[in-house]
Amino acid sequence: MSSQPLTTRKADILIIDDTPENLNLLSAMLTDQGYKVRSVTKGSTGLRGAIAAPPDIILLDVNMPEMNGYEVCQHLKADARTCEIPVIFISALGDVLDKVKAFKVGGVDYITKPFQVEEVLARIENNLTIRRLTKQLQAQNTQLQQEIQERQRAEEKFSKAFRSSPNPIAIATLSETRFIDVNPSFLTMSGYSLEQAIGHTLAELNLGKNPEAIATLIEQLQEKDYLHNQELEFRTQSGQVKILLLSVEYIDLAGVECALLIANDITERKRLENEFISLVSHELRTPLTSLMGALDLLGSGQLGKLNERGQNVLKIGITNTERLIRLVNDILDLERMKSGAIAMRKIPCNAAKLVKEATEAMQAMAERSQIQLVAHPLEIELHADPDRLLQTFTNLLSNAIKFSEPGDTVSIGAELTKKEPHDAILISVKDTGRGIPADKLQLIFERFQQVDASDSRKKGGTGLGLAICRHIVEQHDGKIWVESTLGEGSTFFVLLPLSPSQLI
Ligand code: ADP
Repeated sequence: MSSQPLTTRKADILIIDDTPENLNLLSAMLTDQGYKVRSVTKGSTGLRGAIAAPPDIILLDVNMPEMNGYEVCQHLKADARTCEIPVIFISALGDVLDKVKAFKVGGVDYITKPFQVEEVLARIENNLTIRRLTKQLQAQNTQLQQEIQERQRAEEKFSKAFRSSPNPIAIATLSETRFIDVNPSFLTMSGYSLEQAIGHTLAELNLGKNPEAIATLIEQLQEKDYLHNQELEFRTQSGQVKILLLSVEYIDLAGVECALLIANDITERKRLENEFISLVSHELRTPLTSLMGALDLLGSGQLGKLNERGQNVLKIGITNTERLIRLVNDILDLERMKSGAIAMRKIPCNAAKLVKEATEAMQAMAERSQIQLVAHPLEIELHADPDRLLQTFTNLLSNAIKFSEPGDTVSIGAELTKKEPHDAILISVKDTGRGIPADKLQLIFERFQQVDASDSRKKGGTGLGLAICRHIVEQHDGKIWVESTLGEGSTFFVLLPLSPSQLI
C-alpha cells in the first residue's frame, strides 16, 4: 500500500470482476472521481495484483468462474500482506449475494446492481475512512505499547536499584513527609518494619532529631528541586542517633509533590573522625603546653637577651602556639560537651549582668581594632549556665569585631519575646562588617566551617567557635541563627526560652 496518507491523495482501488460491463462502468465512475483504478477479470490475477501492490480497497465480484469472490476474499484475509485491505463485494443483477457469508469471509460491505454513483462512492469513502481511522488507532496503540514498555523498563531499573541499593532510600510526601515507599536498607538503618514505616510521617516515627533542619531542607527543596550532601541526624526505632548524609530530589508522583531521599549512613565515619581528632588533640596538649613554657622562658630573658630579630621570631612562635592551644582546647571542649562529660551547670543568673560582662571582656579587643562596642542589656533573671552563656556572647562579639572594619560599631542587645510555647529572651549581636553569603548562613555553625578558608589564618580563629555556641544554646533548649547581608553586616541571634518563674 502507498505510504502517502490517504487524506491527501485519492485511494488506489482494485476491481476484480469477470463481467466487462461492470468493470468498465465502475472503473469509469471511479476514475472520473480521481481514484487510481486497476481492474482484473480473474480472482487469481486479482490476488497476485493485491500482493504485488496492495491497494487501499478492493471491489470484488461474488460470482466468477474458477475462483468465486468468497474464496478470493478468504485468500486475501489469510495472507498477512493483504489481510488488512477492506473488501467490498459486488453483486450483479440476478446474482444471489449471501450477505452473511460475505461478512463471514471478511468483507466489510457490499454494493449491488444497478450501481448508483453516490452510493458506491459513499460506501467506498466510508470504508476508506474506517480503514484510515483503524490504521491511526493501530499506530497510536503501537506507540502507546512502546511507551508503556519503555516506562516499564525504566521502572524496573529504578525498582531494582531501589530494592538492592546499599544506601537507605525513601520516598516521602513533601507536605507531611509521609513515607510512600522505603527500601530494605532504609528499614535496616531505621529499625522499623515496612508496615511501621509506610503511610507514617517522619514526625509520627520521631525519626528526625532536628525537625527545624528538616523543615528548612524541605523549604530549600521547593525552591531548588534537589539538594546534595546535607548532613542530618536521625533517630532510629531504638533511639540511637545516626548521622546521615542526604541527597534529596524533588519528584512528582501522579500530582503529589514528593521527595526522593538517598542517604549515606556516616555515623561510623564521623565517630572515627571524632575519635581521631580527639586522640590527636589529647596527644598535642602536653607537648604544646611544654612548648609554650619554653617560649615564655625564652621571652623572659632568663636564658639570655634576644636581639630584635630574635624577639620578632619568638613573637610569631608564641602567636602560633597560642592559636594551636586554642584549637586543641576548643576541640576538646566541644567533644566533652557533646559527649556530656561537661554538663551545663544551670543556676539563677542575670541576663543584663552577662551582657555587661561579655562587653567588658571584649572591650580591649574592640579598642585594639578601633571598634566601638555598644551594649543594651535587659534585666531578666535566667536559669542558665552563666559561664557557658558568657562564652557564647564573648565568642559572638569576638567574631563581630574580627569581621568588622576600624571605625565600625558592634552592638549587643536583648529583648523579651512573647512567643508560644514560652516567653523567651532574644539576644542579638550586630555588626556592620563584611557579611556572610546566604549559602553559608547555616554551615558556619558546623565544626571547622569558615566562609573563607583563610579566615582562621588571617583572623586567628579555629572554626569551632560557632559550633561550640550552638551546642551551648541547644543545651539551654534555645536556638541560634544568623541573618546577614553581604557587605552590610550580620546579626547573630540567640533565643533562650524562659520558664514563667524566670520573669521578674
Ligand atoms: P572562627 O574561629 O573561624 O571565627 P567560628 O565558628 O566562630 O570560627 O566562625 C566560623 C566562620 O563564620 C568564620 O570563620 C567566618 O568565616 C564566619 N563568621 C562568623 N561570624 C562572622 C561575622 N560576624 N561576620 C562575618 N563572618 C562571620
